[in-house]
Amino acid sequence: MNIVVASGKGGTGKTTVAVNLALALDQEKTQLLDCDVEEPNAHLFLKPVFDKSREVGIPVPAINLAQCSFCGRCSEVCAFNALAVLKNQVMVFEELCHGCGGCAYLCPERAITERHRPIGIVESGKAGKLDYGHGRLNPGEAMSPPLINAVKKMSNPEKITIIDAPPGTSCPVVSAVKGCDYCVLVTEPTPFGLNDLDLAFQMVNKLDIPAGAVINRSDLGDGKVEEYCQIKNLPLLQKIPFDRALAELYACGEPVVLHRSAWRNRFRELFTSIAERQKEVVRWRNI
Ligand code: SF4
Ligand code: SF4
Repeated sequence: MNIVVASGKGGTGKTTVAVNLALALDQEKTQLLDCDVEEPNAHLFLKPVFDKSREVGIPVPAINLAQCSFCGRCSEVCAFNALAVLKNQVMVFEELCHGCGGCAYLCPERAITERHRPIGIVESGKAGKLDYGHGRLNPGEAMSPPLINAVKKMSNPEKITIIDAPPGTSCPVVSAVKGCDYCVLVTEPTPFGLNDLDLAFQMVNKLDIPAGAVINRSDLGDGKVEEYCQIKNLPLLQKIPFDRALAELYACGEPVVLHRSAWRNRFRELFTSIAERQKEVVRWRNI
């Protein structure tokens, strides 16, 4: 079972939920994958020992000008404007290339080969008995979805996989959420939280991923997010009230479930709630 923890905006407590949820479960049967490849931070709480690391890249075109007829076909087929064909030159804007291979496939002169362009690394290891993996995008690199997909490939089907998604609702988040069994949308009870929850809920609906909400710092704002959940039929999985102990432990990089059994039980209940809702969805879909 793959559970992705997402939020429409940063700073809502997404990583806190992902890390504590993973640690509250049987760690031998659980793994956590941090797909926030621009700034992975789950490792700061889990302090894993990494034993594997590999470079991830995408194939970008390399033009053999001696074979090229400058027909312009490659720039026509590129949906990302990554190629410009001039009178006697073909310019490749590698940072725009998505590595789809379309230009090489359709070049009539077979003048295009592919070159590996590194975009980042994936690392994996153990945090105690918990399997852990994440990606690190190279500084200045914009092409994060291929790296996110590489992190997701580390998912072990025999384990419960908790995925920490990047914040927002754009391509990187879609890559992290796509194909998961359930999405936990972490939000906060403020107008900004509500606005971004709405965007995130629209995204998961488009991707047809069942979802539920967790309201963090639930006692500090207004009741509009709860109203929204009722109106939209979005299950409210849990409300997390502000707790000074949690905030202090967070500031020290310590997951609260390792120090407070009440919080461990709370996150176990969250998992039970997710598992029941997900089973319900599967039952409905099979009718
Ligand atoms: S499609 Fe091939 S032959 Fe045509 S301009 Fe591009 S590289 Fe050159
Ligand atoms: S591989 Fe795809 S994205 Fe990259 S330049 Fe060729 S057509 Fe464009």
